[in-house]
Amino acid sequence: MTYFSTSQLLEIGDVPFVSHGEKPTRRESLEYFRRVFESWNLNAKFYELVEDVKKKKDHFEVHTSKDKYQAKTVIVSTGFYGLPVLMNVPGEHLSKVRHYYDEPHPYVEQKVAIIGAANSACDVALELFYRGADVTMIVRSGEISERVKYWIKPNIENRIKEGSIKAYFKSEVTKIKEDTIEINTPDGHLSLENNFVLAMTGYQPDFKFLQKIGIKFTDDPEPELIYDDTTHESSVPGLYLAGVVCGGMRTNKFTIENAREHAHKIISHLIK
Ligand SMILES: Cc1cc2nc3c(=O)[nH]c(=O)nc-3n(C[C@H](O)[C@H](O)[C@H](O)COP(=O)(O)OP(=O)(O)OC[C@H]3O[C@@H](n4cnc5c(N)ncnc54)[C@H](O)[C@@H]3O)c2cc1C
Repeated sequence: MTYFSTSQLLEIGDVPFVSHGEKPTRRESLEYFRRVFESWNLNAKFYELVEDVKKKKDHFEVHTSKDKYQAKTVIVSTGFYGLPVLMNVPGEHLSKVRHYYDEPHPYVEQKVAIIGAANSACDVALELFYRGADVTMIVRSGEISERVKYWIKPNIENRIKEGSIKAYFKSEVTKIKEDTIEINTPDGHLSLENNFVLAMTGYQPDFKFLQKIGIKFTDDPEPELIYDDTTHESSVPGLYLAGVVCGGMRTNKFTIENAREHAHKIISHLIK
């Protein structure tokens, strides 16, 4: 899988991208998208949840948490970060357990367990380690995921090898308590001192919402959304799908780079 390796890959239309490093950072990317929004004078509604999209005879009715809109065409690009994949273990509801990561400073000098070994887990483990947290990874499989970005994988593997980041492979969380985390490892049960748990166990699209608005899925253990690959129109005429949501449970199928063509396909079809 190729991730964007130059800032050019992010450029949209005539808004230039400015990055200070080899790879754009999250902050630089967000600032860039903000400038695109500003310079194109896009009409956006913030903090407004779409609750339903109803197909009428010749238009759609979009029901949100604040209002109701009419549209000839609807493009759904809701991503998959809305719903975390839960561990379903006792103690998961404690406030020290987080399924979303924001910034490292709350974790300085803290004992942090990171669950998982895919991209998010590795990014978070490294960032926290470099900011002085005591990081332990708990990984169900026997190794760091093959999907981890090629410039991150050697770094995390070397930190684990040298012992700066502790890692328990083929291990699972069984219980989380206020001051400890209980895990099953190949060498038996362990109780580790713990201040925070960052469950980087993945996310999934909101299938209930997608089903409600008429989207169909493949009959697969990892269902994908059904749409016309050349136009990205779903089985509901006039309702299009774009971005990583198209991959359904195959959440690694689309990245920023290979999802860019979705917009071109949709707009080309609309202006035909
Ligand atoms: C730590 C991390 C590192 C990453 N690194 C890379 C990388 O290096 N390269 C790369 O290509 N990708 C990377 N990704 C993946 C990248 O973030 C996604 O590919 C990209 O954001 C997907 O864009 P999207 O527009 O499809 O979905 P999203 O960016 O997830 O946008 C979906 C939007 O829809 C909104 N939404 C959802 N449901 C509703 C609703 N009902 N009503 C209203 N709004 C709704 C959400 O709030 C969100 O704003 C990374 C992801 C993470 C977490």
